[in-house]
Amino acid sequence: MKCWHCNKELIWGGDHDIEAENEDYDMVTNLSCPKCHSIVDVYHPSVKLLKEYKESDKDKEKVKKISRDYIKKRKKRSKCGYG
Ligand SMILES: [Zn+2]
Repeated sequence: MKCWHCNKELIWGGDHDIEAENEDYDMVTNLSCPKCHSIVDVYHPSVKLLKEYKESDKDKEKVKKISRDYIKKRKKRSKCGYG
């Protein structure tokens, strides 16, 4: 992975298990830049958070379908002269 600031390849510092202290993320990876000395922590989502994301994607799909159906209905109505 490249540094956000200077584009130098980051050095991997280690992975830490944070499952016990954080319920949304189960692992954090520490990376550091040898050039500009920025540090990057990468939080890996836990199974629980991934599940929540999946469910919210499903909700988004539902909303999309509802609005698609609504548009279809409106189009139909205006064709029949009710709208
Ligand atoms: Zn850098």
